Amino acid sequence: MSRPDLSVLRDDVRAISAYHVPPAAGFVKLDAMENPFGLPATLAHELGARLAQVALNRYPPSDPHVFKAKLAHAIGLPAGMQLLLGNGSDELIHLVIQACAKPDASVLSPWPSFVMYELSARFDGCRFIGVPLRADFSLDRDATLDAIARDRPAVVFIAWPNNPTGNLFDRAAVTAILDAAPGLVVIDEAYLPFAQDTWIEQLLARPNLLVLRTLSKLGLAGIRLGYLAGDPAWIEQFDKLRPPYNVNVLTLAVAEFMLDQLPLLDEQAAIIRAERARLSAALRLLANVTVFDSAANFILFRVADPDGVFARLKERGILIKNVSRMHPLLAGCLRTTVGTPAENDAFVDALKTSLS
Ligand code: PMP
Repeated sequence: MSRPDLSVLRDDVRAISAYHVPPAAGFVKLDAMENPFGLPATLAHELGARLAQVALNRYPPSDPHVFKAKLAHAIGLPAGMQLLLGNGSDELIHLVIQACAKPDASVLSPWPSFVMYELSARFDGCRFIGVPLRADFSLDRDATLDAIARDRPAVVFIAWPNNPTGNLFDRAAVTAILDAAPGLVVIDEAYLPFAQDTWIEQLLARPNLLVLRTLSKLGLAGIRLGYLAGDPAWIEQFDKLRPPYNVNVLTLAVAEFMLDQLPLLDEQAAIIRAERARLSAALRLLANVTVFDSAANFILFRVADPDGVFARLKERGILIKNVSRMHPLLAGCLRTTVGTPAENDAFVDALKTSLS
């Protein structure tokens, strides 16, 4: 069999490996910041009946304005601002960067942070500037402001709270970044249900601010729906790059149904926040484990032998994320998602016997 000639492909595309999602079947799955709770059976049946009515033979509406109005109301979107829907917030990160990717454009983020900021920047031919956090993962305000003055980034991404460290940065430092940035600042509130802290009301006062959110962490990772909130002038431009039917009919139907069930999702988030406190406290009791404060639904911790601990946890049926080689500041670090009370107990038990 002759082999395809891949030489037409971009060298940088050929050089990288695909985003790796490890198989998780059979594991206690604590690697991807999912909400561990499913829907109650009666609600799942009701949703099934609703989905049975969806016209699968039709394309989705190009602009689902009724759904968007309902979503805007549910989140308290400031009057005059608009939403753009994406196939996960991943797609919106890409669209924003793509729209700004002039020759020589750069994208900046405190670093380490969410890997897609760097990947999307690179895919779109932008220079990526990761400004190192301090050793305690706080924002290095002066270094960030210096980099902004020097590189004049088209887009600055701030994850609020940050992934994979879990912390919220100093609000005054972020305000200084908003004051200094010459282009767009995207505040990524993927973990809003657990941080309960938002910049959305700043949209009116800050025309170059965009707030990015997702339904993924709230309990709907499988449907892939993210949204970007900002001034209509920005949204109109990004919308030109959006594939016309990027949000499918099933996603829209589930999201619309679930907007009526927000109290249930909020209740689940409250349980996860309480579990986060319980899990942090349990981890802090372990010798030779350093636990970092988290405002998200995951906890970062440091151990002496991250590869060994990760492997032994896996042998015991627990899948977390080994982030120890992502960045020098994360040396020794592992990240676990906050699961159900039973999953968290199983994780702590397994960790106790996996530390050495
Ligand atoms: N932003 C941050 C900070 C994240 O951690 C994630 C997911 N890990 C995302 C965005 C992407 O979320 P999604 O594409 O599922 O909406």
